[in-house]
Amino acid sequence: ITVEDLMMHDPPSIRETSSIREAAELMIGHEINHLPVVLGDGTLSGIVTSWDIAKSVAGNFQNLAEIMTKDVITIQRSDSLRLAASLMEKHAISALPVVDNAGRVLGMLTSETLSLSEVLQ
Ligand code: SAM
Repeated sequence: ITVEDLMMHDPPSIRETSSIREAAELMIGHEINHLPVVLGDGTLSGIVTSWDIAKSVAGNFQNLAEIMTKDVITIQRSDSLRLAASLMEKHAISALPVVDNAGRVLGMLTSETLSLSEVLQ
Protein backbone atom coordinates (compact mmCIF):
# COMPACT_ATOMS: atom_id res chain seq x y z
CA ILE A 1 0.00 0.00 0.00
CA THR A 2 1.45 3.34 -1.10
CA VAL A 3 0.42 6.99 -1.19
CA GLU A 4 -1.57 6.35 -4.39
CA ASP A 5 -3.93 3.95 -2.58
CA LEU A 6 -5.03 6.55 -0.02
CA MET A 7 -4.77 9.85 -1.87
CA MET A 8 -7.73 11.80 -3.18
CA HIS A 9 -7.35 11.63 -6.99
CA ASP A 10 -7.65 14.81 -9.10
CA PRO A 11 -8.42 17.04 -6.12
CA PRO A 12 -10.04 20.45 -6.58
CA SER A 13 -7.36 23.09 -7.08
CA ILE A 14 -7.21 26.85 -7.40
CA ARG A 15 -5.16 29.46 -9.29
CA GLU A 16 -3.05 32.02 -7.47
CA THR A 17 -5.06 34.84 -9.07
CA SER A 18 -8.33 33.59 -7.57
CA SER A 19 -9.83 35.30 -4.56
CA ILE A 20 -9.68 34.13 -0.95
CA ARG A 21 -13.49 33.89 -1.10
CA GLU A 22 -13.28 31.47 -4.06
CA ALA A 23 -10.83 29.32 -2.10
CA ALA A 24 -13.17 29.32 0.91
CA GLU A 25 -16.17 28.42 -1.29
CA LEU A 26 -14.29 25.52 -2.91
CA MET A 27 -13.33 24.17 0.51
CA ILE A 28 -16.89 24.38 1.80
CA GLY A 29 -18.39 22.94 -1.42
CA HIS A 30 -16.05 19.92 -1.42
CA GLU A 31 -15.82 19.57 2.37
CA ILE A 32 -12.03 19.79 2.32
CA ASN A 33 -9.45 21.81 4.23
CA HIS A 34 -6.55 21.88 1.75
CA LEU A 35 -6.31 23.19 -1.80
CA PRO A 36 -3.30 22.93 -4.08
CA VAL A 37 -2.59 26.20 -5.88
CA VAL A 38 -1.67 25.49 -9.52
CA LEU A 39 -0.34 27.27 -12.59
CA GLY A 40 -2.15 27.06 -15.94
CA ASP A 41 -0.35 23.84 -16.89
CA GLY A 42 -1.39 22.12 -13.65
CA THR A 43 1.98 22.39 -11.93
CA LEU A 44 1.98 23.11 -8.22
CA SER A 45 2.78 26.66 -7.09
CA GLY A 46 1.51 26.57 -3.52
CA ILE A 47 -1.00 25.30 -0.99
CA VAL A 48 -3.82 27.07 0.82
CA THR A 49 -5.59 25.58 3.82
CA SER A 50 -8.50 26.48 6.06
CA TRP A 51 -5.85 27.60 8.56
CA ASP A 52 -4.68 30.16 5.97
CA ILE A 53 -8.26 31.37 5.52
CA ALA A 54 -8.41 31.95 9.29
CA LYS A 55 -5.10 33.83 8.98
CA SER A 56 -6.60 36.04 6.26
CA VAL A 57 -9.53 36.95 8.50
CA ALA A 58 -7.29 37.58 11.53
CA GLY A 59 -4.77 39.64 9.54
CA ASN A 60 -7.22 41.21 7.10
CA PHE A 61 -5.34 39.93 4.05
CA GLN A 62 -7.02 40.39 0.66
CA ASN A 63 -5.11 38.20 -1.80
CA LEU A 64 -4.62 34.47 -2.07
CA ALA A 65 -0.96 35.01 -2.93
CA GLU A 66 -0.45 36.67 0.48
CA ILE A 67 -1.81 33.77 2.52
CA MET A 68 -0.80 30.68 0.52
CA THR A 69 2.35 28.74 1.37
CA LYS A 70 4.74 28.73 -1.59
CA ASP A 71 7.36 26.36 -0.25
CA VAL A 72 5.29 23.18 -0.44
CA ILE A 73 6.29 19.80 0.96
CA THR A 74 5.15 17.21 -1.59
CA ILE A 75 5.20 13.46 -2.05
CA GLN A 76 5.06 11.06 -5.01
CA ARG A 77 2.36 8.46 -5.56
CA SER A 78 4.72 5.48 -5.25
CA ASP A 79 6.12 6.67 -1.90
CA SER A 80 5.34 4.85 1.33
CA LEU A 81 2.71 5.92 3.84
CA ARG A 82 5.45 5.84 6.46
CA LEU A 83 7.37 8.55 4.56
CA ALA A 84 4.15 10.58 4.24
CA ALA A 85 3.45 10.36 7.98
CA SER A 86 7.01 11.28 8.91
CA LEU A 87 6.97 14.34 6.60
CA MET A 88 3.67 15.51 8.10
CA GLU A 89 4.99 15.07 11.63
CA LYS A 90 8.36 16.72 10.93
CA HIS A 91 6.82 19.80 9.29
CA ALA A 92 3.64 19.97 11.46
CA ILE A 93 1.36 19.88 8.41
CA SER A 94 -1.77 17.88 7.74
CA ALA A 95 -1.69 17.37 3.98
CA LEU A 96 0.75 16.60 1.19
CA PRO A 97 0.06 17.31 -2.48
CA VAL A 98 1.01 14.27 -4.58
CA VAL A 99 2.95 15.36 -7.66
CA ASP A 100 4.51 13.67 -10.70
CA ASN A 101 8.08 14.22 -11.87
CA ALA A 102 7.04 17.38 -13.72
CA GLY A 103 5.43 18.85 -10.59
CA ARG A 104 1.86 18.38 -11.80
CA VAL A 105 -0.72 17.69 -9.10
CA LEU A 106 -2.08 14.13 -9.16
CA GLY A 107 -3.67 13.95 -5.75
CA MET A 108 -3.83 15.05 -2.15
CA LEU A 109 -3.05 12.97 0.92
CA THR A 110 -4.34 14.18 4.29
CA SER A 111 -3.39 13.14 7.82
CA GLU A 112 -7.08 12.47 8.43
CA THR A 113 -7.16 9.74 5.77
CA LEU A 114 -3.84 8.36 6.96
CA SER A 115 -4.91 8.03 10.58
CA LEU A 116 -8.36 6.64 9.77
CA SER A 117 -6.80 3.97 7.53
CA GLU A 118 -4.43 3.03 10.36
CA VAL A 119 -7.33 2.38 12.74
CA LEU A 120 -9.54 0.62 10.19
CA GLN A 121 -7.02 -1.91 8.88
N1 SAM B 1 -0.79 21.75 11.89
C1 SAM B 1 -1.87 22.47 11.26
C2 SAM B 1 -2.06 22.05 9.82
O1 SAM B 1 -1.32 21.17 9.36
O2 SAM B 1 -2.94 22.54 9.13
C3 SAM B 1 -1.70 23.97 11.36
C4 SAM B 1 -0.29 24.51 11.33
S1 SAM B 1 0.51 24.40 9.79
C5 SAM B 1 2.01 25.20 10.21
C6 SAM B 1 -0.38 25.49 8.79
C7 SAM B 1 0.40 26.00 7.62
O3 SAM B 1 0.99 24.92 6.94
C8 SAM B 1 -0.49 26.71 6.64
O4 SAM B 1 0.01 28.01 6.41
C9 SAM B 1 -0.43 25.86 5.38
O5 SAM B 1 -0.44 26.63 4.18
C10 SAM B 1 0.87 25.13 5.56
N2 SAM B 1 0.91 23.83 4.91
C11 SAM B 1 -0.03 22.87 4.89
N3 SAM B 1 0.36 21.82 4.15
C12 SAM B 1 1.59 22.12 3.69
C13 SAM B 1 2.54 21.44 2.86
N4 SAM B 1 2.30 20.23 2.37
N5 SAM B 1 3.71 22.05 2.60
C14 SAM B 1 3.98 23.28 3.11
N6 SAM B 1 3.14 23.97 3.90
C15 SAM B 1 1.95 23.40 4.18
